[in-house]
Amino acid sequence: MTTAPVPDLSCRELVELVTDYLEGSLPADERTRFELHLTYCAWCRTYLAQMRQILERAGELTEASLAPEARDALLATFRDWKKDPGESA
Ligand SMILES: [Zn+2]
Repeated sequence: MTTAPVPDLSCRELVELVTDYLEGSLPADERTRFELHLTYCAWCRTYLAQMRQILERAGELTEASLAPEARDALLATFRDWKKDPGESA
């Protein structure tokens, strides 16, 4: 006996929802379908892991570029590069 069967998420749908899932903005019922699909689909598990890595790396880059200390360090590096004996600014 099955009551109100939840339609399976396709791989294509999962790919479209993956960023929402990782950002935690997916509605509870969608997240349940998402995670259900992951239990039997190795391809999507791999895809999710890769997407998570990419987003984490992108997050680090954004934070680094916004952090004042990081920007100062970068500017200091540029100043050092510009140190040219024959040039007087
Ligand atoms: Zn899949």
